[in-house]
Amino acid sequence: MADMAELKRKREAWFAQRAAAQERERVLQEEGGAAVDEAVHARSEDDPSPAMGVLSLSDSDVLDRITERLTSKLKEELRSEVRREEQEVSRKNIQDSKKMEGWLAGELEQTTCPICYEIMQPPQHTPTLLFPCGHTFCAQCISSHIKANHRHTCPYCRKKIESQAPNMILQQLIDGFAERKKEAAACLDREGKFLAVSGG
Ligand SMILES: [Zn+2]
Ligand SMILES: [Zn+2]
Repeated sequence: MADMAELKRKREAWFAQRAAAQERERVLQEEGGAAVDEAVHARSEDDPSPAMGVLSLSDSDVLDRITERLTSKLKEELRSEVRREEQEVSRKNIQDSKKMEGWLAGELEQTTCPICYEIMQPPQHTPTLLFPCGHTFCAQCISSHIKANHRHTCPYCRKKIESQAPNMILQQLIDGFAERKKEAAACLDREGKFLAVSGG
């Protein structure tokens, strides 16, 4: 896997190199102009020595071209590295979503009513907490259990039911899980489409 620190280092190195190249270009333009002036001035005085300024400028042009080529190669390398990094991240997101989906499925299975095995969601299957034993069943099963047995006892531990109330925390958890499962499915769908388009 590409390391973020390594990527950051490369990016900074590239920026530094680019800034140096631009600075060098500026200096060469200024000095180049001066060199040409000097060469022209030297000729006008019938100086037979070769115009060193012009020669070194053309060498610099070659160097500049090489630098430019290296810079664009580095740029391309950086771009493809960023692309690889992005694909790696979206692949990891899909793995995480799949793990999450599996975990959520397990959680939801465990929060079903122990009598009817339905997911405890309102209105019929509102999770209902019995007091004082603390066991939870869906509202429908508890009311039919009480009707059928004419006894206010917990179907699990047979303790007397003194009162009952919606198990709000459990209901919120179940609602939350259902919502997250829906989101995970939507995310998976989006990522799948993204990968199909980007050819990853
Ligand atoms: Zn039930
Ligand atoms: Zn109980």
